[in-house]
Amino acid sequence: MHYDTIAAISTPLGEGGIGIVRLSGKDAVTIVEKLFSSPRGKKLEESESHSIIHGFITNPPTGARIDEVLVAVMRAPKTYTREDVVEINCHGGILPLRKVLELVLKNGARLAEPGEFTKRAFLNGRIDLSQAEAVMDIIRAKTEESGRVAVEQLSGGLSEKITAFRDRITSVCAHIEAYIDFPEEEIAPSSLESIVSDIQDIRDGLVELSKSFEEGRFFREGLKVAIVGRPNVGKSSLLNTLLKRDRAIVTETAGTTRDVLEEYLSIKGLPVRIMDTAGIRETHEMAEREGVLRSLSAIENADIVIAVIDGSAPMNVEDKAVLEKVTEKRSVIAINKSDLPAAQPYLETALRAYSEDAVNISAKTGSGLDALKDKVLTLSMTKTYKTQLGSPFDERPGVIVTNVRHKIAIDTAVAALNNGASLLRAEMPLEIVAVEMRDALDRLGEIVGTVTTEDILAMIFSEFCIGK
Ligand code: GDP
Repeated sequence: MHYDTIAAISTPLGEGGIGIVRLSGKDAVTIVEKLFSSPRGKKLEESESHSIIHGFITNPPTGARIDEVLVAVMRAPKTYTREDVVEINCHGGILPLRKVLELVLKNGARLAEPGEFTKRAFLNGRIDLSQAEAVMDIIRAKTEESGRVAVEQLSGGLSEKITAFRDRITSVCAHIEAYIDFPEEEIAPSSLESIVSDIQDIRDGLVELSKSFEEGRFFREGLKVAIVGRPNVGKSSLLNTLLKRDRAIVTETAGTTRDVLEEYLSIKGLPVRIMDTAGIRETHEMAEREGVLRSLSAIENADIVIAVIDGSAPMNVEDKAVLEKVTEKRSVIAINKSDLPAAQPYLETALRAYSEDAVNISAKTGSGLDALKDKVLTLSMTKTYKTQLGSPFDERPGVIVTNVRHKIAIDTAVAALNNGASLLRAEMPLEIVAVEMRDALDRLGEIVGTVTTEDILAMIFSEFCIGK
């Protein structure tokens, strides 16, 4: 199929070493040719595919030079979009980039919509829909691990799996339809049973895949870690030191960090969403109580809790109240302010009642933080944790579902397969069973994009940035 020629600035706006204006479409080369002059008289039209040519972009009517450039010409079909693609490497400033884009648009290209290059790659059959979505995941990946999972999806791991399930459903459909076409044939009970068991097999496989979404959540959203403790033990300071930047408010007054702030952190490639919570303390002051409630719910929602206590002050009832709240959780106790003299001997032994793990840290100097991170990492990998919450980090499963759109589609397909099996068992007309099977097939088709609607496409590609 031929679409019009689109263009956009594909590098981030701002100052940089180089910036790229990218074009895709059948007129990409002709359009740039009108603006391009090479000192040695080279023509883009005559250049080999995937070559780079040095020259200048000039404004045709005036002949004024806009920028010195390197132009990469890549001819269909071996390109990102499967169309002719031209990339103009300009000097990085925003002015030359804008000027070049403007000229390209004046000479016949259209400004690309967000994600339109990737959308073309999909429409032209180079990648399927789940791979297009993976492109965005790669751009947004916050840590190495989430990046790895997205790259896996881009390379087609999920697509292959879904396609295999679709093939199996198709063959069951064919089986059923054969009986529909020859209504005079009686279905032997054994054939019926074998169709039902095929359907159930497929369903079980899909249920497994759907379950992997829970693991995918870790990669997409990060493992949820809550930092809790009574006011002034150094929660915000710890968060700041972990993040190495000042986001949470650090203050001398007790109880002033009232909101639960969220920040992302990468612990040895493990994506961690860290929540800084207000101090846990019984109080009558309204706003602070609000903070306490949030803190408690943060503990509840957290995958792992870091309970902070102040090692330079004696443990008090508030500390104990906090520690008691975290005993049911996978937790590590951070004994903070280790740069100050310890207030209590044998503290670590006393703390064993609450958590198996305690580390001395100083949010101020940064000492002990590596040990703390190691503990968090180990906690994310322990077997008990795995059986409770399904941590993926001690195994690297090949294909996991990270996208909620995919999960919903799989679950809907599972429901349709269940219906199909029940209808068969109830000896309902095969036509109705076939409808359910087709439905399952279509739902899975939505994942890879063999079945799409404009709405699905619009929703997916509108999340992209312009130029991708
Ligand atoms: P939060 O209420 O638990 O969030 O505690 P903050 O992070 O606001 O810290 C309370 C006070 O303790 C501040 O004055 C910090 O500067 C101080 N503080 C935090 N961590 C350390 C530490 O490791 N050593 C020392 N000496 N002071 C700390």
